[in-house]
Amino acid sequence: MKKEPIPVFFHPAQLRHNPLYEWSFGKKITHPETSARVSRILAAIEKSPSFSMRRPLRMPLNRLTDLHDKDLVSVLKTARQLPEGKTYYPSVFPRRDQVSSDPGSLPRAGYYCFDSGTPLTVHSWDAAYWSAASAWSAAKCVTSGEAPAAYALSRPPGHHAQRGLFGGYCYFNNAGLAARHFRHRGRVAIVDIDFHHGNGTQSIFYPDPKVFFASIHGDPRKFYPYFSGYAGETGRGEGRGTNLNVPLPAEADGQEYLRALRRKVLPAVRAFRPCALVISAGFDTFKHDPVGAFDLETQDFAEIAWELAGLGLPTVIVQEGGYATKWLGLNVSAFLRAFRDKHRLP
Ligand SMILES: [Zn+2]
Repeated sequence: MKKEPIPVFFHPAQLRHNPLYEWSFGKKITHPETSARVSRILAAIEKSPSFSMRRPLRMPLNRLTDLHDKDLVSVLKTARQLPEGKTYYPSVFPRRDQVSSDPGSLPRAGYYCFDSGTPLTVHSWDAAYWSAASAWSAAKCVTSGEAPAAYALSRPPGHHAQRGLFGGYCYFNNAGLAARHFRHRGRVAIVDIDFHHGNGTQSIFYPDPKVFFASIHGDPRKFYPYFSGYAGETGRGEGRGTNLNVPLPAEADGQEYLRALRRKVLPAVRAFRPCALVISAGFDTFKHDPVGAFDLETQDFAEIAWELAGLGLPTVIVQEGGYATKWLGLNVSAFLRAFRDKHRLP
């Protein structure tokens, strides 16, 4: 049977956000979340008949404010006042009692942010908006029946962004927007395969009985985001039992990773009986990744994709992290091609 190409959603405005450096525990380091990541991915897939490039649709702003606080959206818009070339780093992060917040004031942007690695530039709004619109458009494409699966080349990434906070190189929760779109039709599973725990996605859906969130990631006792991602976090209220964290130690290889996926994550997703799947697809689990600390090889990404495709669900694959830029195109295309080969709806 001839397979249709996977639609790929991306807007060139996503390239304009270019943070140059990051403060990491007091050290100034080159920012790993560069637009070169996108260029590598595009170079690997753009001309292949297995993929069809699409422009995302213009997303109504209320899609963003359904998921995020209005003030988070406003503070990103405030950053449009920054001069070209200026990178603004929030560096005061108030505890949230007895503070006066104002999304129109950049010196107080730290109220809407949780770390020092996620700067604002004049282009952050455009890039984050189109990154989110890519994920939303991919979900619309799948729910309309146009394609059984679609890929959102979302950059900047999204899975660390919470309802009212940006951070972790993330501004809006792209996977969350896709999940919200599916959620109108029934239960949704989000599987997060980025090296880092998707704290933003977890917190947004933590009390939600209709969205199951599962994540395999580096042990948060040692790795970002440190404050969440522990196995004991299982959901709250009606959402109890709809959150699954599987932390793995540093240097976990493909075998150990696939064992966790097959034994823990996939059975739990099947038991939840979702009608759609969102994959938060980070590739910083790769052995040469400068940020992550796992030991996965390119072939492991193909095997992960086969397993996830085997769930047989309408699927949106949302790009998250992956900072071994030289190999990123190879790894993303290995994942997407394997997914396309195996994916079938019942
Ligand atoms: Zn990551």
